[in-house]
Amino acid sequence: MKKRSTPPVWQAPLPEATPPSDMAVYQLPTGSYETRASFAFKGGSFRDKRSFAATAILITHPGGDFLVDAGFGAGIAAHVHAQPWFARSPYQATGTASEQLDASGYDRRRLRGVLITHSHWDHVSGLDQLQVPIWTNAGELRYAAQARDGNVFRTVSEGHDIHEYEFGSAPYLGFPSSYDVHGDGSVIVALAGGHTTGSVIVFVTLPTGKRYAFIGDVAWQLEGVRQPAERPLLMRKLADVDPGQVREDLLRVASLAGLMQVVPAHDLTAYEGIPGLAARAASSVS
Ligand SMILES: [Zn+2]
Repeated sequence: MKKRSTPPVWQAPLPEATPPSDMAVYQLPTGSYETRASFAFKGGSFRDKRSFAATAILITHPGGDFLVDAGFGAGIAAHVHAQPWFARSPYQATGTASEQLDASGYDRRRLRGVLITHSHWDHVSGLDQLQVPIWTNAGELRYAAQARDGNVFRTVSEGHDIHEYEFGSAPYLGFPSSYDVHGDGSVIVALAGGHTTGSVIVFVTLPTGKRYAFIGDVAWQLEGVRQPAERPLLMRKLADVDPGQVREDLLRVASLAGLMQVVPAHDLTAYEGIPGLAARAASSVS
């Protein structure tokens, strides 16, 4: 992307949603790994060290709860070791999603599945402790079956049921195909297949009217959305199956940034304001 001004703000009304009153969103930070801003977005400095978040999101809903991505799992050391040089970096693990759910007294029967934004190791590692169906799409399964960086997914998904959802042709906020998880507009999965073939964005609307876009790796840091700025050339070549598609999706996301909380999976600051599981435990006691 050349020097480009911010794309116009989304003008049409936001899509309707009727989320149930007891729906909520929580964050489960499972750790982080170190990288440099110069690798994360064009124009970033090599000296600017960034901590990349590995955070799972829990969406509770009477129709069944979902995790969006799984964070780091019990096998994180092996999962990092399985990476090529550019993805292998020092990391800190602070407790898996599974451990955090148990520690908060969460009833595991409520968990219907893990909805993955894509199949890369840093999003699926924690599946090794979450024996629930993996919700994904045909394009991502095809990608994960063949891609070199699908190796961790192929290992941790063993023994899991795969729930393969299908996109309908209903456009959602500029994205041409989407899937409505609960049928009430509260959790919408939109195809943004540039980083990997079946990468998705998960849009969430809460009963308060608060909206989120969990954009996976469409951008790695919020600067990527705000400027907007793509990944640097080398990283696009290494990390994206279709950089042109990523650019298109990034511009769509940038046009929404003022209307909802946009959360690039790896930006620690993007999760601000999303409560942790302790808040959930406290509210269910009272
Ligand atoms: Zn990632």
